[in-house]
Amino acid sequence: MGVKELKGELPWTHLRDWAVSFPGQVFLIDAANILFWCALACYPSFSAGDFIPAVAEFHKFAQYLVARKVAMEMFFDGMPNPDKAHEKRRRDEKRRVAMENIASARDEGVEPAEKDKQALVTNTSLYIAMCAKCCSVLQIPFSVCYQEADSGLAARFLMNASQYIVVSADTDMLVNGVSKWVSVKNWWTGEATFIDVTPKGLEAHVPQLDENDDDKHPLLTHFQKSGAIVFVIWAAVIGCDFTEEASGILGTGPVRLKAIFDDIAAQGLELTIGAVASRIHSDTLSCDAIIKKIDDVQSAFTKAKYYNTKGEVWTLDGKEQVFLLASESSMAHMRGALDPKTGGPYEQSDKAQLEKLSPGLLRHNHEIDKSKVRGAVLPRPPEQCDVLTLRDFITARSGTSSGLFKRDLVMIASAYLEVEKEVEPFLVDRTDASGLMLSKLDSLSGKDARVIIAAFLEDPGVRASLDPFPLQPFLMEFKQKYDEKLFSEDADDIVLHAPEMRAELVDLLYSHLGGAGEKKCVRESFEKSCELDGVIYHAMAILPDGRVFLVSKQRASLSKDEKTRNQTDKGEKPLPVEYLVLMELGWQETTAEHHGHNLGILVSIMRSWCPCTAGRGSCVHRGMALWTQLRHWGPDRPTDKPCTASLCGWSKGSRKRQFRITRPVSECTFEQIDKDKPTKQHRGCREVEDAGSHYEVMTPSDRAYFETHVGPQSMAKLCAAIAEHHGAASEDEDEGYSDDE
Ligand SMILES: [Zn+2]
Repeated sequence: MGVKELKGELPWTHLRDWAVSFPGQVFLIDAANILFWCALACYPSFSAGDFIPAVAEFHKFAQYLVARKVAMEMFFDGMPNPDKAHEKRRRDEKRRVAMENIASARDEGVEPAEKDKQALVTNTSLYIAMCAKCCSVLQIPFSVCYQEADSGLAARFLMNASQYIVVSADTDMLVNGVSKWVSVKNWWTGEATFIDVTPKGLEAHVPQLDENDDDKHPLLTHFQKSGAIVFVIWAAVIGCDFTEEASGILGTGPVRLKAIFDDIAAQGLELTIGAVASRIHSDTLSCDAIIKKIDDVQSAFTKAKYYNTKGEVWTLDGKEQVFLLASESSMAHMRGALDPKTGGPYEQSDKAQLEKLSPGLLRHNHEIDKSKVRGAVLPRPPEQCDVLTLRDFITARSGTSSGLFKRDLVMIASAYLEVEKEVEPFLVDRTDASGLMLSKLDSLSGKDARVIIAAFLEDPGVRASLDPFPLQPFLMEFKQKYDEKLFSEDADDIVLHAPEMRAELVDLLYSHLGGAGEKKCVRESFEKSCELDGVIYHAMAILPDGRVFLVSKQRASLSKDEKTRNQTDKGEKPLPVEYLVLMELGWQETTAEHHGHNLGILVSIMRSWCPCTAGRGSCVHRGMALWTQLRHWGPDRPTDKPCTASLCGWSKGSRKRQFRITRPVSECTFEQIDKDKPTKQHRGCREVEDAGSHYEVMTPSDRAYFETHVGPQSMAKLCAAIAEHHGAASEDEDEGYSDDE
């Protein structure tokens, strides 16, 4: 896939989060890699032909980008490029081997190898079309390319290179003339690498030397001198999708080719295909044959076809006339109305599935049994129904009926009936067991989290709750982790071990509600989590399987727990209702090189639940749990880096720092937290030494000096002086001391 061994030759810049790294620029995103990533995450269903879970994953990610206001345009693969026939043959062969491997793994009852799974994941027409439909619903500008996405991306980039940045996993980018290219490593965290080979970007590039004092990235130096021909020759000689052999011209590898480039440069000659070909020694190919091979690859790149914005087909070099005129079918293909891979109409079954797809409903089970929804049908004409029946009818359609009299209810119900002659109603089940709302659970104010979870597990409503996921097994897992003592309730301990977390995770939580920072739920959850007594309990468990469990108990600001009325003093209000929020997050390992620590990073929001009435949706309490967790890493974290940052992981450095509230003034230490001072980690190192967790902050001579000049004895004199002064003042004024003293 792409150009072989090119990535390693380039000086990449590491990006913590590509989406925020280039304000003001528009991203041109090759969707293929996101599709692949989502398919792999849902491998069992995807490989069985059910694309819905993978599409739901894509939809969630696309929503996340929208919520973060990423300026972007998505490009989907179109028809196969006939010039890539060799690559297709190689891929088919790989798939065949992978299928055999997976079959034999199944026979032996073991999990198939990751690389075999990856080889089998292909973005089919239907899958591409479904994801394109998600983009269309989310109003993300997108187009299905004429052929594969690389040429479409390159053409759009070259239209206005200063405005765009290409985001793609495909290494063809540089050969296609794309000079600002982001390659994403992890779509959820945004971790990526970036290369800028524009003249301006190269100006900023500082050549790096290897241990032999040689240029570490000679390819870039040659590119600076000779231009994109360097990458074209590299692609042809080392191997790319257009070469007959996967490894290009047999017998010449990266080391040899770089030596050839150096030789040509050393002789002061121009870097041409002929100059390179004459230096390649091949037993089977003549110099002319090599020139022809490189020429063929070059023209495959420059003749790659794409749609322009009008739906005309052009070739990348732009020298030829329009290859195909715009037509209704080219426009339809571009917007996903025709089969992306054939350019013709969809297969009947694909068409039906595509029409049925409602991107907004992907993430919860909306296919309810209508006969079981209370108020689904009106037994009699509205005028003859009682108020209760009318209310049920309206609420089942997510309408509101509160405060209305019968005359209005009849009017609204009649209006619904009128519309439903043409459009199927979208019904909402509001019953306790399987509907959106949960029966009111006893909030068990003041009880231990474990006790509450155990009580929830006994609740019939909880046991029957299956949407958006079966609740009971979820709660059961939390109970087990408590039993296994995996939860930490100690704030200090959480501070030491909490994986890195970014505020964007809250945006991700609420991304399906649209908008971004100004969203009410984001703001409100932040404000409420800051309130005194807003969050009264927070616990975290890090599971070795890549998940983090959070349990957060919060006090409702308005709802009161009536059951506690007799527990409070006479005439006082009952205690506020308490919500025990349970969240499951995904985390990934980090490296000291890229993150400065190896505590891991929180990357995704998995299942979550809250016993409040909106607990199956996206209530504000979930956000509060996240903000609370964020304070254990984010800007408000007590130390700029976790003390374990310089150590090697989870087990070490976990001893708690000790604080004493009452100590002599002389023993006070003050420190300013400065995020730019890595030396703060020093303190962390000391804590694991046997010396214990109390340590001396001054050198012995400093301590002696301090004791002499600011010692307790001088403080005693000062206190005596203040007391004396105070006494004198009291004699003058009967009021005692005044505020301004
Ligand atoms: Zn809630």
